[in-house]
Amino acid sequence: MITITLPDGSQRSVPPGTPVRDFASGVLPMAVVKKAIAAYVDDKLVDLTHPLNADARLRLVLPDGPDALQMYRHSTAHLLAAAVTNLFPGTQCGIGPATDEGFFYDFVVEKPFVPEDIERIEKKMREMAQQDLVYERQIWPRDEAIEFFKKRGEPLKVQLIEEKTAGQTEVSCYTIKDRETFVDFCVGPHVPSTGKLKAFKLLTTSNAYWKGDAHNQPMQRVYGTSFFKDEDLKAHLTQVEEAKKRDHRKLGKDLGLFMFHQWAPGGAFWLGKGTLVYNLLANYMREVLFPAGYDEVKTPIIFNKALWETSGHWAHYRENMFLVESRDVAAHAHTDGKAAEPDMATKAMNCPGHMLLFGSETRSYRDLPLRFHEQTALHRNEASGVLSGLTRVRQFSQDDAHCFVMESQIGEEVERLLNLVKRVYGDFKLQYSVKLSTRPTEYLGELATWNHAESELKKALEAAGVPYTVDEGDGAFYGPKIDFDITDAIGRKWQCGTIQLDYQMPARFGLKYVGADNAEHQPVVIHRAIFGSFERFIGILIEHFAGAFPLWLAPIQVTVLPIADRQLEYAERVLEQVAAAGLRVTLDRRVEKIGYKIREAQLQKVPYMLVIGDREVAEGTVSVRTRAGGDQGGSPVDAFVTSARDEVARRV
Ligand SMILES: [Zn+2]
Ligand SMILES: [Zn+2]
Repeated sequence: MITITLPDGSQRSVPPGTPVRDFASGVLPMAVVKKAIAAYVDDKLVDLTHPLNADARLRLVLPDGPDALQMYRHSTAHLLAAAVTNLFPGTQCGIGPATDEGFFYDFVVEKPFVPEDIERIEKKMREMAQQDLVYERQIWPRDEAIEFFKKRGEPLKVQLIEEKTAGQTEVSCYTIKDRETFVDFCVGPHVPSTGKLKAFKLLTTSNAYWKGDAHNQPMQRVYGTSFFKDEDLKAHLTQVEEAKKRDHRKLGKDLGLFMFHQWAPGGAFWLGKGTLVYNLLANYMREVLFPAGYDEVKTPIIFNKALWETSGHWAHYRENMFLVESRDVAAHAHTDGKAAEPDMATKAMNCPGHMLLFGSETRSYRDLPLRFHEQTALHRNEASGVLSGLTRVRQFSQDDAHCFVMESQIGEEVERLLNLVKRVYGDFKLQYSVKLSTRPTEYLGELATWNHAESELKKALEAAGVPYTVDEGDGAFYGPKIDFDITDAIGRKWQCGTIQLDYQMPARFGLKYVGADNAEHQPVVIHRAIFGSFERFIGILIEHFAGAFPLWLAPIQVTVLPIADRQLEYAERVLEQVAAAGLRVTLDRRVEKIGYKIREAQLQKVPYMLVIGDREVAEGTVSVRTRAGGDQGGSPVDAFVTSARDEVARRV
């Protein structure tokens, strides 16, 4: 007999070989067993048919856990492949994994799927789900499996089996109903039957290649998603639609904010309006940080590799940096007849430069905390395949700062930082959540120092009244950290701000300050950013506001729209008056119908339109419209200016 331990600690003995489902049926309520889609035996996720062969802990997987969803989606990918091979005999199957958003399956097809095909496939999937067909795990001799897939004309599956099961004598295959209906080589696990798959939808198709390599066989990838509940699927599809409309890459183009060119991959070209937004944010941050005791500094972009060797980046981060060769080494290499070796690198972060600044003078405890803020450009050598709009770039700037503190100042400094973050996100009316990440299994430094740092961070979080969650073991190897996730208007989370304690870098650079005891001590550095990078933050803001920036952030705040040429002279005076009040204003001088001008200003998401006709000229007023289409009626120009300036000041 073997002993199985349930989550509540109770134990039962059963004969070895008892399948999970049979065991569970004997000891758990039937309703729970019916709902289960898989199980954990010790820490391994298995099918409900898995035989219990040794003493183990057992926990059923019910349809709500995050790992349950992944397995559920992968099972849906099998259903997709079953539908495709039934509708299109001769189709070869590639792989069908779950993704963060759903699943996909790659196929070799005679001709690419058209939308009608996708509809048919989805219909077939629903049919098969309704029939509640069983997923069965079968163990086949390896040779037999290879022979079977060879005969079926599936060389890709044969290749997978050969690669993934080298040295094994048996392989696992899963059928849906039976071999004739569908069979796939897979380690599993899967849901017990197709009837468990309730809420799914096929989304798009794209071209793919076997193993993602363009030299290999071209394939068709079918994307879909699935959820346990219909309402979750609907909510997800609505979010996807909404996200498409808000895509910052599209809005950035439509609103004339930025562009990209293939000759500068991952480097944004900021156009006039985008540069305005960028500078507004940069100056906003300066306004916030100067009174908070920060010195803004500018350090070099290119450093000698000695700096990166000292910081450790040369050894551990080199492939993420752009390496540079100065003409000194190039000239030497030329005379020696050798290839030149890069002796410099563009900076991927500001910290090492700030260490040099700190170490450039004798520092006293009275100088601390010492805070350096820097917004110069950083470069990271990301693979071109992962670059995406403003959210994954190679060139960017951060609202980066390093606070040098005494160990006794950590708590107070972090509390100040938490209040700073609260203030900044508050100005943007952004909701956010906070996560504390603690000591990982592999860490540098003393245990006592870590414990002290972690307790200081907790105290600061509590003192600032910030609710937070703890992510045990997720800190950096050099110190614990606090991360800030913004939730945008359609419920997506974006990690932006971070506060990271670091004992290592000051040590690597041999930093010291003279304490009240006249002895030398090592400072602690706090790396912190609130926006994260300007590029990414602007991308997030564009999607959050769907391009309709609040008045204080709108690149163009007001546009003056005369109905006919005869009002142009008055319109020019209005323009001057509004501009003199410090508002960013344009005048549409074109000979176009007023309806057209208004529509265009609305598409450009200009917050206020001042329409001018004969009556406005006669009365010395403007007719105010908002971009949402609201007619606010007539107003004297100075009254409009006063209320707009107030709206800017209050960051409504
Ligand atoms: Zn599978
Ligand atoms: Zn840093």
